[in-house]
Amino acid sequence: MTRRLSFVAIVAALVASVAAQEWPPQLTEVWKPEPPVVTPGDGAAPPSDAIVLFDGTSLEAWQSMRDGSAARWHLADGAMTVVPKAGDIRTKEVFGDVQLHVEWRTPAVVRGEGQGRGNSGVFLQGRYEVQVLDSHGNRTYANGQAASIYKQHIPMVNASLPPGTWQRYDIYYRAPVFRPNGELVRKAAVTVVHNGVLVLLDAEIQGGTTYTGLPRYEPHGDEPIVLQDHGNPVSYRNIWVRRL
Ligand code: MG
Repeated sequence: MTRRLSFVAIVAALVASVAAQEWPPQLTEVWKPEPPVVTPGDGAAPPSDAIVLFDGTSLEAWQSMRDGSAARWHLADGAMTVVPKAGDIRTKEVFGDVQLHVEWRTPAVVRGEGQGRGNSGVFLQGRYEVQVLDSHGNRTYANGQAASIYKQHIPMVNASLPPGTWQRYDIYYRAPVFRPNGELVRKAAVTVVHNGVLVLLDAEIQGGTTYTGLPRYEPHGDEPIVLQDHGNPVSYRNIWVRRL
């Protein structure tokens, strides 16, 4: 019986394959939905459907993480710079799945070492940190260097440029999914391109970033993007995001 069934299956597969080759090609053409037209950015310019979070002229899209008041980072020369103790800043808008472009620069004058040198961070949904650090000739734990998911994922390579140089992150982020009762359905995942070099591909996030202990998930919805004040005058420019 088994032999007879598999013979039937083979004949069916053969018939299907011959039949498929005889299909008119139009049968496998899909016309709807048609993707919306987006004009790509020229050079460093954002694409036409991006939400510009910082274009070098205003901190309008940001607020203090502490109390929601105006962001008090230093704005000059088309960049915003951490003012130590001013605190983290967050976007006024909230986000889920995104493509995020961020340019950042650690101080040209090198002070400190390890985690104390040019430390800042991009927190996706306010809780999952893509580390910003001067990792050019500055060894620290590998899961805490630039472009790591802090204490969770080590970048495949170190694509850092020297301190004082503008660097860029292109981040592709899929938010975690929770059931209404808070149960985790799907973990967050992130791809990070550092200065044009792929360093993390679809890295599964294990929970909120923590300095001590193990990460764990707390249910949440769309949340702001947060930039970290870690006490070092790290600068940012040209920040834009696309909702996915
Ligand atoms: Mg940091």
